[in-house]
Amino acid sequence: TIADARAAASKDNLRSPICCILGHVDTGKTKLLDKIRQTNVQEGEAGGITQQIGATYFPVEALEKKTAVVNTDGAFKFKIPGLLVIDTPGHESFTNLRSRGSSLCNIAILVVDIMHGLEPQTLESMRLLRDRKTPFIVALNKIDRLYGWKQIANNGFRESLAMQNKGVQNEFADRLEKTKIAFAEQGFNSEVFYENKSMARNVSLVPTSAHTGEGIPDMLKLITQLTQERMAGQLMYITEVECTVLEVKVIEGLGTTIDVVITNGRLKEGDRIVLCGTEGPIATNIRALLTPAEMKELRVKSAYVHNKEVKAALGVKITANGLENAIAGSRLLLVKEDDDEEELMDDVMSDLENLLSKISTSGRGVTVQASTLGSLEALLEFLKQMKIPVGSISIGNVHRRDVITASTMLEKHKQYAVMLCFDVKVDKEAQAYADEVGVKIFTADIIYHLFDAFTKHMAEIAAQKKEESKMLAVFPCILNPIQVFNKTNPIVVGVDVIDGALRVNTPIAAVKTNPVTGAKEVIPMGRVTSIEREHKQIPLCKKGQPSVAVKIEGSNQPTYGRQLEDKMVLYSHISRASIDTLKEFYRDEVTKEEWNLIAKHLKGLFDVV
Ligand code: GDP
Repeated sequence: TIADARAAASKDNLRSPICCILGHVDTGKTKLLDKIRQTNVQEGEAGGITQQIGATYFPVEALEKKTAVVNTDGAFKFKIPGLLVIDTPGHESFTNLRSRGSSLCNIAILVVDIMHGLEPQTLESMRLLRDRKTPFIVALNKIDRLYGWKQIANNGFRESLAMQNKGVQNEFADRLEKTKIAFAEQGFNSEVFYENKSMARNVSLVPTSAHTGEGIPDMLKLITQLTQERMAGQLMYITEVECTVLEVKVIEGLGTTIDVVITNGRLKEGDRIVLCGTEGPIATNIRALLTPAEMKELRVKSAYVHNKEVKAALGVKITANGLENAIAGSRLLLVKEDDDEEELMDDVMSDLENLLSKISTSGRGVTVQASTLGSLEALLEFLKQMKIPVGSISIGNVHRRDVITASTMLEKHKQYAVMLCFDVKVDKEAQAYADEVGVKIFTADIIYHLFDAFTKHMAEIAAQKKEESKMLAVFPCILNPIQVFNKTNPIVVGVDVIDGALRVNTPIAAVKTNPVTGAKEVIPMGRVTSIEREHKQIPLCKKGQPSVAVKIEGSNQPTYGRQLEDKMVLYSHISRASIDTLKEFYRDEVTKEEWNLIAKHLKGLFDVV
């Protein structure tokens, strides 16, 4: 079968490295993959390149052919048996997956559009690569867009560059220099590959075109070279199974299946496996190991070929019972004869438990949801740095029950009734329910966009609270009455502001002291609805300014001549809540004197503790 042909240990006992392609959207990741898969006319046969589940395998023979133009003397020796490229686009989170402690992805190609330089997702990919210590090269793609570029299909880059006119060469040199500076700003030394003396110290930049194929031979040679130089230790072939779940998919006729990458060892039909599930560990037997059927095999009815056994490195679809709750990103362990299944279950679940331990212990915080264990981990790490508390986590697409979890924040911590979702879909019912109850769902393909969305959300909530608090905020003032114009409904009175400042909306009260018992009686009068001086409305009258006429309105107003006496001093009617509101939203607008007026005079007057 096709599975047998590939990736056995090479003579140097190295296994095939796993390579991820990442970068900003539209830099040409898909196109580059298509181009390296494509067979040159001279090559005739596909050279053993095989399309797998979520990956493409390039055996060493194919790599040798594809790099021949830049290895004419054959001086460069291939030691790896082949290269497995993960080709599900838009899944940078794969870089963050582990298999047995080390990164699933041994090596990466970071694609940068030479015309655009470093873009947001590029920076995020770089952070992931740095955190995981994953060696990578940079494809500076779309060189054919340099103005006046003359192409030679599938050529080595240096030869192609040498043929360009001065103008093109200058533009290239210019853009290369800018890219190097941008990388330096991110803390990476970089060099164009043919001037890179140390791959350990500098990232290699390899100019490519996914349209003309130029530079692609250099890229493949470079990725092989980097693997062989930097990673020989990690790529020693071992028989123990290392396998990671990339995706969980429901397929008609097959039920829930898992797409996995086997990075080491072999799996057989009927093997007992354990993996991580949302409802606890899953132990099951492999029913079928499926790889895609090749187009020319017309007799094959199904889209898949069954394999009795598969060997690393390989992307394969597994069908089995009980995979419904499988978690993408989980490790998959093989249960061997003398293994303790329970122990393996604990082991496999520890990855999820580690993440659960990162949730805020108070349970107060946003709900976080991501596509895989790896992307969830990256997101949690980021939110920690940004000091955004996380209340609960989940993996996979957003369903109604996830919204219900998030909605528990609505009552006490409305600002955290938010779901930050990375690289997952939100089902219609879940969105409708969220809209109904008031849970905000933010989705993004770039982690820091979630941060931006959340920050904006917090600012909006603060602004909304400030708006709501307008009626609650009471600025302190003391008023001396001069003349009563209207006794009640509404009260209109001429006053001098003798302390603080009077504003429209301020609630006003008088305080009566019983001459015998000394007991105070507060008489609320309503709110100021207008302040007038010389028949002009003004919003504010400060201490010492000329007198104003004040209109005060409210329900059950007291009346001058009855509850109120003409000479009574009037005060802004403060409360604990009004002071708290000033502190929270208007701190900058309250002067030191005004704080003093509240603390020394009004608090005591209104018995605010
Ligand atoms: P991805 O989002 O990174 O997978 O980008 P795609 O592979 O889908 O490419 C995005 C767009 O850029 C498409 O219109 C491609 O045809 C174009 N493109 C990709 N690579 C090149 C290239 O090397 N040269 C030029 N001129 N266009 C390219």
